[in-house]
Amino acid sequence: MTRPYDSRKRVLVTGGAGFLGSHLVDRLLERKHEVLCLDNLFTGTKRNIDHLHNHPRFEFMRHDVTFPLYIEVDQIFNLACPASPVHYQHDPVQTTKTSVHGAINMLGLAKRLQCPILQASTSEVYGNPNVHPQTEDYWGNVNPIGPRSCYDEGKRCAETLFFDYHRQHNLDIKVVRIFNTYGPRMHHADGRVVSNFIVQALTGQDITIFGDGSQTRSFCYVDDLVEGILRMMDSGTGVTGPVNLGNPGEFSMLELAETVLRLTKSNSKIVHRPLPQDDPLQRRPDITQAKKRLDWEPTIALEEGLKMTIDYFRILVKDVGLV
Ligand code: NAD
Ligand code: UDP
Ligand code: UDP
Repeated sequence: MTRPYDSRKRVLVTGGAGFLGSHLVDRLLERKHEVLCLDNLFTGTKRNIDHLHNHPRFEFMRHDVTFPLYIEVDQIFNLACPASPVHYQHDPVQTTKTSVHGAINMLGLAKRLQCPILQASTSEVYGNPNVHPQTEDYWGNVNPIGPRSCYDEGKRCAETLFFDYHRQHNLDIKVVRIFNTYGPRMHHADGRVVSNFIVQALTGQDITIFGDGSQTRSFCYVDDLVEGILRMMDSGTGVTGPVNLGNPGEFSMLELAETVLRLTKSNSKIVHRPLPQDDPLQRRPDITQAKKRLDWEPTIALEEGLKMTIDYFRILVKDVGLV
């Protein structure tokens, strides 16, 4: 006899009170799993998980992944890490510790439990890429000693650890390289370009384009991304990745600024600021692997996703007193 809870798992999401983590938690609960959301609330906020306060299958634990964790779960999604330059450069040593010590602890936990573990890696492992679009077999062009290195090299070392635990301890690992993702629950002050432009447009401030605005990024809407993460976890044990997850649509920052201005009907004006050091000039995922192995590709176009994100920020800017 099949019982309704046979497929129910106890799932750990580190970084679960953050932007991506909180959406992933929602989707796991919809799938009837029990979710342990672990976060030290450095960049995440309880606001992102407030709606789950009395949910019977949801539990929040305040904990820093750089410290060991002895619990019992069936699956681990390791997302804990500040993700925007403003946040990860605030305390660079802690950023590297979170990626490296955090990976060691979560891998140690997965090894003891013999359970699958997914790592949220990043397109930043490609650095300022010499290959375009980026395929998973490109090794990257990363400055090891610059202001972005704590994040880029921390994430690269975490990938190394994942693959060594796989080879050495036969661990079932899943590594996804996430490209720029946006949507509701992005932190309004984390300096990422989508949230910056939308908040600036909604509050009548100047739109700050760094450099001449010709640099490009590819933006994936959060719902698409979370679907990709879930498909990766559900893929067979042979599928370790790394697999790129992102939207191949590529836009310049100038195009993004103009689109946000049009959609918000804002009168803000565009101003230019210096381009930060080591800022990649272009970035676009090659998602052949994700299509082939996960049957995944994004479905939400930039304008559609931006509209939903703008709706979220319209309420948020009032709630946090920005207008
Ligand atoms: P976020 O900052 O909203 O979420 C990260 C969460 O991790 C936060 O809730 C934060 O409080 C928590 N955290 C940080 N350090 C911790 C620690 N030491 N112990 C426990 N919790 C800790 O960022 P996000 O955009 O949701 O990113 C989630 C993950 O996805 C990160 O690992 C990030 O590197 C990766 N990623 C995100 C993007 C993107 O575009 N959003 C792109 C590439 C990779
Ligand atoms: N660890 C943990 N929870 C566990 C098992 C391990 O947090 O359930 C941490 C612990 O800090 C350990 C690290 O994961 O140092 C790596 O574990 P592993 O078994 O690989 O190595 P070792 O215990 O030999 O250092
Ligand atoms: N950027 C910008 N104005 C801003 C914030 C960012 O022009 O107010 C640029 C930034 O220089 C980079 C791009 O937008 O070229 C994406 O920046 P973000 O920090 O969102 O992501 P990442 O650089 O990590 O891809």
